[in-house]
Amino acid sequence: MNTDTSTFTTHLQNAAQMRREDRLSEAILAAEAALAWANNFGNEDLIAQANLELADLHRYVPNTMQAFQAAGLAIRHLKKTNHQALARALVIQGMVLGDMGDHNRALDVYHEALALLSRPEHQDLGQEAFCYGAIGISCTQLGDFEQAEDAYVHALAYYSEIGNQATECHLWNNLAIIRTRQIAIAQNKGTDTAFLVTQAGNFLLEAERINQTLDSVFVKAALCNSRGDLLRVQHQLEPAAQATQAALAAYRELNLPRGIVDALTNLGEIRLEQDDLPEALALLAQAAKIVGQHDLLDHERKLLELQTRVFEQHGDYKNALLAFKRFHQLALDMQQLETQKKLQQLALRQEIEQVASENRDLHERQATLGRMAFEDALTGLGNRRAFEAWFVQHPNAEFALLVIDIDHFKKVNDTFSHATGDLVLQRVAILLRQSMRQTDLVTRFGGEEFVVILHQIKYLNTAFDNAERVRLEVQNYNWAEIHSDLRVTISLGVVLAEKDVGVETLLEQADQHLYTAKREGRNRVVS
Ligand code: GH3
Ligand code: MG
Ligand code: MG
Repeated sequence: MNTDTSTFTTHLQNAAQMRREDRLSEAILAAEAALAWANNFGNEDLIAQANLELADLHRYVPNTMQAFQAAGLAIRHLKKTNHQALARALVIQGMVLGDMGDHNRALDVYHEALALLSRPEHQDLGQEAFCYGAIGISCTQLGDFEQAEDAYVHALAYYSEIGNQATECHLWNNLAIIRTRQIAIAQNKGTDTAFLVTQAGNFLLEAERINQTLDSVFVKAALCNSRGDLLRVQHQLEPAAQATQAALAAYRELNLPRGIVDALTNLGEIRLEQDDLPEALALLAQAAKIVGQHDLLDHERKLLELQTRVFEQHGDYKNALLAFKRFHQLALDMQQLETQKKLQQLALRQEIEQVASENRDLHERQATLGRMAFEDALTGLGNRRAFEAWFVQHPNAEFALLVIDIDHFKKVNDTFSHATGDLVLQRVAILLRQSMRQTDLVTRFGGEEFVVILHQIKYLNTAFDNAERVRLEVQNYNWAEIHSDLRVTISLGVVLAEKDVGVETLLEQADQHLYTAKREGRNRVVS
């Protein structure tokens, strides 16, 4: 067992190592290998663990939809076992939801994670800080800056304590982003922004100070981007453009789609404010392409909003309207993403049910066809095929044959009607069926001729007695019920099965007996 799972562990360790080296597609391959191994091994815990790593890697790329799916799979299993990794899976799921623009639902998931982490068996300060960082991002996007700031401060306390400088830098940077947003809002309201500007600058300086020792290109890119945005809201457009271009170059070097889109969008906004509309549009189009490749709906929303502004400023109201419509539609789509998923699930269920019921219908149809193939339509008795099938199902059976013919049936048809004749056939069929045991086969061979197989009959006498009984039952039946003048009798030929005598021969012999019965005056049994 230990040696077995070590293959799995090696795959995941490889994935982690490759990820640290920014070899993301290789890391995903390694995680997929781990997943394949776990699937093969049939270990649900390991499957969930591999899915969780895949979700995290896909989110990082980002492959938003794959991340969403993998995280969902992991969570479903981890919930069943209340696994330690559940909180991390939830936070990753929340971040993916954030990328999909569904920050409200992201927050729900984060709070679920926090509730879990507050339980003694799940306590994990690192995971909690990670979660707070994510909460800050979603709260910022929703414009709940106070809550966002609280969350970042929580996370910051933890990461500075453990000395995770990179995360510290990002958190200071995120605080600066909040201030920059607040500056833009204050400007719109016409309130004072000086204090906000100072604080935003200080947060960025703090991050830059920490990064002096760390010297992370990623951190530097993020800081340049934020610096550019801060300069933009202060209307220092050329320095803003320079800082953002530096960020863009760094993100491109790191090949980070989210960062590239952020920088392109910010630069587009700067060009818009510089009234360089063609350049703004070109930048936004570049960003839109990347956004589309990675399902970054949250970024797409911002892009469309900006495109609307560019067209509007350009006096191109037709395109402004188009972009705005798409913006509006996307906002609706994102709201309805959950609803749509629900709908898809329901549609799928319905489809499955439909297929199942179609199968049921098919079975019913097949059963009906089966019945039709072996059943006489008028009387519901077995037909000639049922008779033949019986011998397939009962090889070497002991049995007797009764061949039965209604006497002067032609007269019944002629005197009364064909319909009366049919009624008589149905009535005789019922009398035959009722008169015989369940294990006997009663068939209508056609016309007014019936054949009965008496099963497990050893002696001709027994067969004869049965034949005589049914003859009397038909004779004594109250046929006046159908017509006052109606009388019906039957003649019967009886044979006992003999070894090495074929059914056709037996039928011929019984027919001869029947012919004798007719000739001798009808309404009698001949054996
Ligand atoms: P016998 O006593 O010699 O048997 O005289 P019969 O009139 O019964 O002799 P026959 O076999 O010549 O006549 C059978 C008649 O049964 C002929 C046909 O019109 C009628 N018949 C056959 N099938 C059906 C059916 O499904 N419904 C009705 N009403 N009549 C049928
Ligand atoms: Mg006949
Ligand atoms: Mg007849």
